[in-house]
Amino acid sequence: MPLRLGILGGTFDPVHLGHLRAAEEAVEFLGLDALNFVPAALPPHKTDRNIVSFESRWRMLQLAIAGNPRFHLSDLELRIPGKSYTVHSLRSFRQEYPGAELFFLVGCDAFLEMNTWHDFREIFALAGIVVMCRADCSLEQILAFATGKVSGLYEADPSAGQIRHPELCSIYKLLNTRIDISSTRIRELVAKRRSIRYLVPDSVWSYIAENSLYTGAAGRPDFELARNGDA
Ligand code: ATP
Ligand code: MG
Repeated sequence: MPLRLGILGGTFDPVHLGHLRAAEEAVEFLGLDALNFVPAALPPHKTDRNIVSFESRWRMLQLAIAGNPRFHLSDLELRIPGKSYTVHSLRSFRQEYPGAELFFLVGCDAFLEMNTWHDFREIFALAGIVVMCRADCSLEQILAFATGKVSGLYEADPSAGQIRHPELCSIYKLLNTRIDISSTRIRELVAKRRSIRYLVPDSVWSYIAENSLYTGAAGRPDFELARNGDA
């Protein structure tokens, strides 16, 4: 049996229970051997605000996944110089694990914007795409996007919650418990000195408080980190 490897990219600024629960359900639903959280060093779509340092987002992820033997953390996007592009990360996973079956997890909000991502068509050839619901999203919507933006040859298999293609990898709709939590909401609450308890793991909550993250003080941009080795 080939290794079944899940990959969940994101800014994780900060990681929250919405990420963790959807990831746990994906591992179960797809029978994944491991799930890699891949924090973006320099997210291409998020240049409009200060993102907390890679080290802080990394530390919060470490705290959040502690004790789950299937959850792993990857510094891949930090090691690839320049902007963080999903396609580059997937190519690296493919090289590192040549026989593995890759599954890229993505929220439905981000999925419907994938046509704006760098070399996005290649992503659909490299990995199965697992669409996690955070708002309403139907298999028809996913199919319409796939046939409109990626390839006209996709066909839905509603009983399997899957969209198949003769050459590209399948697209799966994960029937995950919908948890309407976003990092944006958490940052807003912290900035207003409101509680974020039960939205993030307690260890992450403590880390945010101890390090005064998201209180409105200027965060350190990740530019220097991401440019390391970019000469
Ligand atoms: P922000 O509000 O800063 O955009 P976010 O909560 O969307 O943060 P990201 O780091 O942008 O978190 O998300 C990483 C991935 O996880 C994306 O594919 C996103 O769609 C997905 N995701 C985020 N929150 C949830 C959730 N509550 N349920 C399911 N998927 C989620
Ligand atoms: Mg987001």
